[in-house]
Amino acid sequence: MSTADLTAELQLQTALLLLKQAGRELSIDAEPGSTPWLQAVVDALCDLSSRDALTGLANRRQFELTITREIDRVARAGEPALVLMADIDHFKRVNDTYGHPAGDQVLKVVAAALQDCVRPMDTVARYGGEEFAIILPNCPTAFGLTVAERIRAKVERRPVNVAPGVDVQATISIGGAFAPQWVRSSAALWVERADRQLYLAKTEGRNRVCLEHAPVVQVSAEEKGMLFGNSQFQDLE
Ligand code: GH3
Ligand code: MG
Ligand code: MG
Repeated sequence: MSTADLTAELQLQTALLLLKQAGRELSIDAEPGSTPWLQAVVDALCDLSSRDALTGLANRRQFELTITREIDRVARAGEPALVLMADIDHFKRVNDTYGHPAGDQVLKVVAAALQDCVRPMDTVARYGGEEFAIILPNCPTAFGLTVAERIRAKVERRPVNVAPGVDVQATISIGGAFAPQWVRSSAALWVERADRQLYLAKTEGRNRVCLEHAPVVQVSAEEKGMLFGNSQFQDLE
């Protein structure tokens, strides 16, 4: 075996070990070393590098890629798109009172709650620490507040068991802003506008939603069906 082959083999073994440690066994019925098998390894590595290790949500890197793509789409097609920034309220108290592992458990449950109430086309990311970002493409402005409020309420309704007999009631504050349609904005500006609303939600008392004022457009029943075809959104009818 040449030195180059040996290096490649070692890198492959390292990659496989990494996937194994992350609990990602390859679920492909192909000959190890074959092209489909190698493709599966590459796909699994890409997936691993785009996720947050604790919550399994998209990580910050993936968020940046997705929001940049979304800005392109909004500029090209003029579709309304909403970005929500959500931050767990008084999270430091959870760590201080119940310990860091309990805080981690709260993060996981909140992440799952957020993921549960969005459509497959939406992206929920762990933006950092106890802050999450949600990108909702093609979300009519008339529905922004309802969708954000629904997410807030979902977290509030889901107590987190952090120790035998001990439940923590986490809440989140949410700030949101729509991308300016037909205009090429920047990810930083869009997030900054949503962040300003998040700051307002915090100062106004937490466990609430603040959205930047956006012109409310009339949405047809057909559009409603397209956005909320998912049964989780039936109460918007
Ligand atoms: P606010 O309502 O104003 O957001 O208050 P807060 O306590 O949630 O905010 P603050 O920024 O004071 O505290 C955030 C805490 O989140 C501090 C930090 O130690 C904790 N944290 C960040 N990442 C993690 C993590 O991965 N696991 C755990 N357990 N805690 C984390
Ligand atoms: Mg917080
Ligand atoms: Mg924070």
